Amino acid sequence: MRYNIYVVDDDSFMATINSAEDAVKEASRCSHCNEPNCIGGCPLGVPIPAILSLVATGKFLEAALILRERIPLASVTGRLCPSYRFCEKNCSLGRKERPISFCSIERFLGDLSLNSLIKQRGNSRGSVLVVGGGPAGITTAHDLFVEGYNVDVWERRPSIGGWLRKVPPFRLPTEILNWEIERLVLSGMVFEINKEMGNMDPILASNHYEKIALTIGEPPCRPSQKPGVEETLEAALKGIAPNCRSVVINEGTDGAIDLARQLRQLKPDLGITINAEIVGNEEDAKLAESEGISIRKPSKLLMKLGALTIGGDCPRLPPPFQLQTSIEGLLMVNEHLTTSKDHVYAAGGAVGFYKSITEAMASGHDLAQCLMFRSRSSANDFAPQL
Ligand code: SF4
Repeated sequence: MRYNIYVVDDDSFMATINSAEDAVKEASRCSHCNEPNCIGGCPLGVPIPAILSLVATGKFLEAALILRERIPLASVTGRLCPSYRFCEKNCSLGRKERPISFCSIERFLGDLSLNSLIKQRGNSRGSVLVVGGGPAGITTAHDLFVEGYNVDVWERRPSIGGWLRKVPPFRLPTEILNWEIERLVLSGMVFEINKEMGNMDPILASNHYEKIALTIGEPPCRPSQKPGVEETLEAALKGIAPNCRSVVINEGTDGAIDLARQLRQLKPDLGITINAEIVGNEEDAKLAESEGISIRKPSKLLMKLGALTIGGDCPRLPPPFQLQTSIEGLLMVNEHLTTSKDHVYAAGGAVGFYKSITEAMASGHDLAQCLMFRSRSSANDFAPQL
């Protein structure tokens, strides 16, 4: 198996390695700061220096299992985490030289431990229904499962993974995502696909589930608006490109760069411009530009060129539940992540516009904590944080 890791030169470009030796070398660079800023910079609170110590001494599986306690999909985050915004931005080595490339180590450890199974710490602590099988829902269900809860995950689509299924294979190979999900299933976690929730009242009344956790993702754009990045990417992954000579993508997210690069592969003569104030991963942006994709600051002039405009703000559809929502269509929750309905909680893209898998998973951890430590008899003190 081959791993990507940053090489130690000033240009800091992605290189490919064939063995674990480079991981040991990279982990050995850590200076084990008294106050490790990397941990504070990680939304998932991964104990980075402890993991690097184990990797530096060749204890890979031990390191991977510690990593996986906080990151159940380590092979996926090792490919998608925008670590340049998190641990790498905060690593003290970055002041003088190149920060530790923890994301590369994470990918290495994740791939290495794809066959490891999850151990449960307790049993029969209650039952929770998680609705939505994206990264936030998977993380919530994982944490509850580890602590001994009976958890079912319902996903309305025909596969588990949520928006991760819309990441192009050049960034996240489908087999890696499938393998990660299989690992969870083999460990005993229960996922049901093609399963819509419908009315939640009978579910709560039946007492089969004590609580419901909604991790249903961002509300979709209303139909008939300009096409969104997500839906255009979904179509592009099926081989369908826009029927025009040029497109302008009005977002600089990682998803927007993925879309631009996928369209480039699909339709080499398509003019593609990313029209955004800030673009995501600098390395990905460089790759996109090397493929002939133009990245520029927002310009009104661009809007007049007759190109198909993709993405940008759009009015959202409200969720199909009788719950209080914001004007943007997001579910409103209080500090305990409870919604306006008793025993119904929510997190992830359903309550905020997350920009990465890492932030979505962090939200899933928070939700699991709230579900575990709020008993069913707790009063619903719903007063959403505005
Ligand atoms: S901040 Fe960087 S050098 Fe310091 S402990 Fe974390 S990874 Fe190691």
